Amino acid sequence: QDALDLQIRPEWKELIVTAVSFPGTSTVLGYPRIGPRRELKRALESYWEGAASADDLRAAGAGLREQTWRRLAGLGLAALPSNTFSYYDQVLDTAVALGAVPARYRAGTPEQTYFAMARGTAGLAPLRMTKWFDTNYHYIVPEIGPDTEFGPADPGKALAEVREARALGYETRPVLVGPITFLLLAQGTAPLDRLDDVLGGYAALLAALADEGVDWVQLDEPALVADRTPAELAAVRAAYDRLGALPRRPALLVASYFGDLGEALPALAESPIEGIAVDLVRGEVPRHPALAGKVVVAGVVSGREVWRTDRDRALASLHAIQAGQVVVGTAGSLLHVPYDVEAETGLEPALRDRLAFAEQKVAEVVELAELFASGVRPQRAAVPSRPRESAPVAEREGRSPYPVRAAAQAGRLSLPVLPVTTIGSFPQTGELRAARAQVAAGTLTEADYEALVRGEIEHAIGVQERLGLDVLVHGEPERNDMVQYFAEHLDGFAVTRHGWVQSYGSRCTRPPILHGDVSRPGPITVRWATYAQSLTAKPVKGMLTGPVTITAWSFRRDDLPLREVMYQVADAIRAEVADLEAAGIGIVQVDEPALRELLPLRRADQDAYLAGAVGAYRRATSGAGDSTQIHTHLCYSDADQIAAAIDGLDADVTSVESARSDGRILAESAVGAFTRGLGPGVYDIHSPRVPSVTEVEKLLGAALAVLPAGRVWVNPDCGLKTRTYPQVEAALANLVTAAASARQAL
Ligand code: GLN
Ligand code: ZN
Repeated sequence: QDALDLQIRPEWKELIVTAVSFPGTSTVLGYPRIGPRRELKRALESYWEGAASADDLRAAGAGLREQTWRRLAGLGLAALPSNTFSYYDQVLDTAVALGAVPARYRAGTPEQTYFAMARGTAGLAPLRMTKWFDTNYHYIVPEIGPDTEFGPADPGKALAEVREARALGYETRPVLVGPITFLLLAQGTAPLDRLDDVLGGYAALLAALADEGVDWVQLDEPALVADRTPAELAAVRAAYDRLGALPRRPALLVASYFGDLGEALPALAESPIEGIAVDLVRGEVPRHPALAGKVVVAGVVSGREVWRTDRDRALASLHAIQAGQVVVGTAGSLLHVPYDVEAETGLEPALRDRLAFAEQKVAEVVELAELFASGVRPQRAAVPSRPRESAPVAEREGRSPYPVRAAAQAGRLSLPVLPVTTIGSFPQTGELRAARAQVAAGTLTEADYEALVRGEIEHAIGVQERLGLDVLVHGEPERNDMVQYFAEHLDGFAVTRHGWVQSYGSRCTRPPILHGDVSRPGPITVRWATYAQSLTAKPVKGMLTGPVTITAWSFRRDDLPLREVMYQVADAIRAEVADLEAAGIGIVQVDEPALRELLPLRRADQDAYLAGAVGAYRRATSGAGDSTQIHTHLCYSDADQIAAAIDGLDADVTSVESARSDGRILAESAVGAFTRGLGPGVYDIHSPRVPSVTEVEKLLGAALAVLPAGRVWVNPDCGLKTRTYPQVEAALANLVTAAASARQAL
């Protein structure tokens, strides 16, 4: 302590006010909100379908919030967050709270405006959506530019949650996305130039919350754990100096997570905020003399992984922090893990004992807070949390250069120019999902289920034949999910029954748990692909999920380097590619929508990751012969940081999102990343609206302006699983028509 005092520079002295005390010794930064049985998903979807009223939806939301607060308090958690609930997305909620609603959406009821931004309407495209840092959660991208007119700040939602919790007897800490992260995630010209205006909005929100008697507010700033320019760091200082100096405001907890604050730590520590939350799972124990006057919420329980917390490691971190007050917390929100491992009665007990989902993590936080408060020390020296990366395993190569392959494929496939295809899945009917549940429950035989799947394949092939697509797909009716399906058929994975995690809006995924060595007991997709191919003379694409994506969308073991885990999965997929090929399938798509997702947030770590990811993909695909066309699909088109990696995949054809972002991929700088076949999506499947022929023609025209026609493919942005057949048929018919007219114009 003395040593620390000596280091305190005079100018910091004034920053070291007595720490404002935090209401308790344990907290979480956020909690899942979709409902333990996806109640919110159902409520949202029936509201969207018009089967339920806005009041019904609100009642469902209120019920879930109450359940969450009662559960957290019941588990003994001291400080409860609020405003972590959302009907769609917390970034969108923050945009609404700041009055950053683009004028074109300002019509109708507040609900209509909100969901129009999130999902679009018949006449209006939604706002963009993209991945939240290195997670599989998608946020709605705010539009902030030089001309953005901010409406008045609207504290309504945050205040309502505070009051709702108070009525139940709980004082809470409302959570908002912080100003720097909000602006850095926004789309538009130099959003950070609008910092002043946005801070005006935060000032109004904070004043309203202070008037409500709120003591603490949490501002989430995960953007601060990535590399930031000096200008951005200056903005951090400016923002928190200004918010800190507000005369009427609650105490501020600025929450960082998903990594280490690095250079942003001094900016925060030297600002007049009262608390900082840090990620001690991925980051270092923060050291700064000014922390002596602050609350540090120590994120020792992971918000991202599902393994039980290493108690000794957590205690060692807690004891190493020098701060005014140390509060035990989670590293980030628990939004990204499922609710409750106790619900997983089907898991092997030995595996289940190693797992902690949200509820168990809250219990861990509470227990660690008790141990820490009673001075318990770790029993053994802390072990490094992550295994060291081992030397790269040699890649397997085999394919000829692209021009040689392209010629071999052209000879074999004889496709028209501008071939029309889809990304893989066709609409999944409720009947099919119900049938899977019945098989699981033992009330439907495998044989009956298979017959149903075959029927769906026949239907999908029939539709594609009738509409005149050029490369067909079987439609993936046998798959509950593109990752879970493979996990169920590979050794080394376990799958959960209720382990849902929100992906976007009402969409959830159930990440499998990759806990052991991965291997493939037998062919997985071959019989479906060959059945589909038997129904048509047109080529059917075999459809696989890539090793990076299977790994990224699973909760994975942390005792092996990521690269080795990906390579194990890659070898299983390589065997499947070989079996498809042997069965006569001429095109195999190996999807890697998650290629960018695991990209480390710090540039210094990115090359090693990308080398491993590309190595895994090539390991999976490089066994294919030259005349077998390898496709890949990425759900986005933002190639800036991963252009070289996309090229490195060496896929013959890559399909990407483009319609939703209005063809941004076709900007010269971006399109240069694609030196082989490219299918820039011309149909935004995230929204129920059907693109017109003219719209598709325009997007195709834009592609043909920058790419040689011989390399352009015509396809949707992504799979069609979430759409209905009427929407899909209408849209695909327009794609075929637009492609035909574009061919004529060549
Ligand atoms: N082939 C998958 C599908 O169409 C790809 C999904 C995805 O990119 N997320 O559903
Ligand atoms: Zn996709």
